[in-house]
Amino acid sequence: MRKSTTVVRSHLAPAVNGEALTASPVLSGPFHASGDPAASAYTYGRFHNPTWTTLENALAALESSPTIAAKALVFPSGMAAVTAVFEALLRPGGTVVLPANGYYTVRMLLERFFSPIGVGVRFLPKQADLQGEALRGATLLWLETPTNPELDIYDIRVLSQLAHAAGALVAVDNTTATPLAQNVLSLGADYSVVSGTKALTGQSDLILGHVAVAQEELLKPIHEWRTLSGSILGPMEAWLALRSLPSLPLRLERASANALAIAGFLAGRSDILRVLYPGLPSHPGHEIAAQQMDYFGPVVSFVLEDRARAERFLARAELVTEATSFGGIVTTAERRARWPKESAHPGLIRMSAGCEAIEDILNDLENALA
Ligand SMILES: *Cc1c(COP(=O)(O)O)cnc(C)c1O
Repeated sequence: MRKSTTVVRSHLAPAVNGEALTASPVLSGPFHASGDPAASAYTYGRFHNPTWTTLENALAALESSPTIAAKALVFPSGMAAVTAVFEALLRPGGTVVLPANGYYTVRMLLERFFSPIGVGVRFLPKQADLQGEALRGATLLWLETPTNPELDIYDIRVLSQLAHAAGALVAVDNTTATPLAQNVLSLGADYSVVSGTKALTGQSDLILGHVAVAQEELLKPIHEWRTLSGSILGPMEAWLALRSLPSLPLRLERASANALAIAGFLAGRSDILRVLYPGLPSHPGHEIAAQQMDYFGPVVSFVLEDRARAERFLARAELVTEATSFGGIVTTAERRARWPKESAHPGLIRMSAGCEAIEDILNDLENALA
């Protein structure tokens, strides 16, 4: 079956006469479970919950491929999913290698809480011939592709092979593309880590995340971390995510087409310093992106000459809503460097194409840039 078909049907409950068609939220702290706890599927809501199970099965199907039967665990945010992987793998003396311009909160988390206990943090050079050296002795390669917000592309297959040869495990932050656009486990990654807050659920009303793996034993310490730390998703949020997931194929197709049209429009203007979109043939990572992605995704970044010009653009835009985050059905944009720890160019606008009619978005861009 096509992946999109599986996703569209992911909130259906098992076919039992007289029962609801779709999954419903199960709100329970304790469950009826007398005697030996091992005899009950559910006992206590920090350990497991049937609504999580439905969502995790849907996410596992999304992360699977003909050769991989993935397993997934949900978390209360993308960062909680990131933290669970770090806590499971990184010990004093260990080393994580990551791009210097990925999602800045991941760098801050490492800087504030892992470096001080003796975890080494190294940046992955962009030049291919320096990457092997950077991976020597590493515990974990933390990739992000496309990166947020500059949309750099890393070759997941090649870097996974390099990292494995160096004895490191590989995690890919797959938030920007979503697992429907980019199946990182089949490209060789050990962990797919996703913030479901963005395009995966797409309604801009949820914060959640997940970790998926191909080898089930890799999930054990992550599962244990979740249970012991209590880093758990509420069942209502799990249910809202189940309502949102089935529209992912429709949303992603439309938003990616809109993003490509926006990127093409911007690339044709002389007042834009740079347009960053992996779907443009002129993007330095386009060839690799075309190999490893089925959609180029909703995010387009572009650089205006300075902060003032970028702020003027945002103030003049009427349809394009100024807001952080991305991947919603509504088109949004923000000047990334307004966040103090973000390293992007002061004039960089990160835009997230939504599902509106493209003519209206392009008209709005034309007016806001005039
Ligand atoms: C937003 C984001 C995260 C963090 O997700 P939250 O759900 O906000 O915790 C991690 N990685 C990337 C690439 C993101 O864009």
